[in-house]
Amino acid sequence: MKSLLMHNPVVVAAGWIGAYIFITVLPLLILLIYPPTGRELWTEFSVALGFIGLAMMALQFALTARINRIEASYGVDIILQFHRYISLVAFAFILLHPLILFVVQPETRGLLNFVTAPWRARAAVVGTLALILLIVTTIWRQQLKIPYEPWRTSHGILAVLAISLGLAHGLGVGYYLNLFWKAVLWTAIALTALWLLIYVRLVKPMFMTKKPYLVEEVRQERGDVWTLALRPRGHEGFRFEPGQFAWITLGISPFRMREHPFSMSSSGDNTERIEFSIKALGDFTKRIKDVEPGTKAFLDGPYGVFTTDRYEDTAGFVLIAGGIGITPMISMLLTHAERQDERPYILIYASKTWDDITFREELHELQQKLDLSVFHVLKDPPEDWSGETGYVDKELLERHIPKRRGTRQYFICASPKMMDQVEAALHQLEVPTTNIHMEHFNLV
Ligand SMILES: Cc1cc2nc3c(=O)[nH]c(=O)nc-3n(C[C@H](O)[C@H](O)[C@H](O)COP(=O)(O)OP(=O)(O)OC[C@H]3O[C@@H](n4cnc5c(N)ncnc54)[C@H](O)[C@@H]3O)c2cc1C
Repeated sequence: MKSLLMHNPVVVAAGWIGAYIFITVLPLLILLIYPPTGRELWTEFSVALGFIGLAMMALQFALTARINRIEASYGVDIILQFHRYISLVAFAFILLHPLILFVVQPETRGLLNFVTAPWRARAAVVGTLALILLIVTTIWRQQLKIPYEPWRTSHGILAVLAISLGLAHGLGVGYYLNLFWKAVLWTAIALTALWLLIYVRLVKPMFMTKKPYLVEEVRQERGDVWTLALRPRGHEGFRFEPGQFAWITLGISPFRMREHPFSMSSSGDNTERIEFSIKALGDFTKRIKDVEPGTKAFLDGPYGVFTTDRYEDTAGFVLIAGGIGITPMISMLLTHAERQDERPYILIYASKTWDDITFREELHELQQKLDLSVFHVLKDPPEDWSGETGYVDKELLERHIPKRRGTRQYFICASPKMMDQVEAALHQLEVPTTNIHMEHFNLV
């Protein structure tokens, strides 16, 4: 019974939420058990907010450490979305802490004077400024034109700075942390955050270096896409659920932390040769076509919950892709063709032109092996085109998806705009929300 519960995904997911809430409020529970005396309610409240905010910030490291067990319950994009939103809540708590104090104890405003303030107040001010900088550069990264890699490095540094200064502030104030075991609790939280950082930056890359891959082939596909085929060297590679993705480090050491996420585009059951199909869009992706066979690569994965394998009992699938969003879908179709799956598959696939349709021939071949209906939707169709054109909207979907909509699982991967439109259209067509699954290719 216990083991059944531990394997139930809903129970496991709820367990993680419970653990998150417990750790967040733990400092408060301790305050309740051993309340400091002689302070008025608003002061206590403001300190409580500061503690909760700090605990939430420390937990941010756990959310971004790509811990497989947590990730497998929700999927990376949900976790990162939570990471983003909860950071604003933590920030609000942290900011309210001094603001309330400034109102109820006006003399504390003097602590803002950096010259005369004690070090613990200076730590708080610098920590808060680091936090503000972190949030501004994240929310407006694209508007500020900060490239991804420098942003990611500075994000880590600012986060460590904000947490350590916050903790130093707490320890310096001492009023709440002077009891031995309260200090132990906070040191444990800080050390856990530090361990997660070491795990991500050193331990994980070290394990990755022990399992290298070699580039076996770089193949051009339609639509300015290049398929990178990797073969594991000296190990068995990994099995993945079709639709999942991995972080690739190509031609450099994994310690340099310059990896990029890509969905596998080959069959999940073929561990000997793992393929990724990459659209040439930016600095890294435009260089794929020049990668030499024999180049070393490292993979961190598989990740993601965007997979047909989670729905063994469903009657069939509707896959809706736009452009490079076809990669997880082709992996699903190849895997299920190999497994001789007899369930019906519908693929609605938006591309720019007929010549741009990535995997056009492969999809045609797959129709011979699977019960697969493919509907191409073209933005700029040729003159003699009699198929679908324009946007994938409610009317178009209504023409192709089955009448008994709740009997299928729907997978969407496309540009953010198309995904939003398709999701809204599916809702209008009364597809149950729980049957709609989406993969976003832009995490930040
Ligand atoms: C789950 C997932 C699966 C993906 N699968 C595919 C796929 O199968 N095929 C494909 O062509 N693309 C895929 N992508 C998108 C791919 O990761 C980005 O296009 C690529 O990382 C861009 O790198 P660049 O340096 O060429 O582009 P840039 O022009 O430098 O970056 C463009 C944007 O891509 C994002 N990005 C850049 N570098 C990184 C990075 N290291 N990590 C995360 N995001 C980054 C940023 O939002 C950036 O603004 C996937 C993305 C995700 C999140």
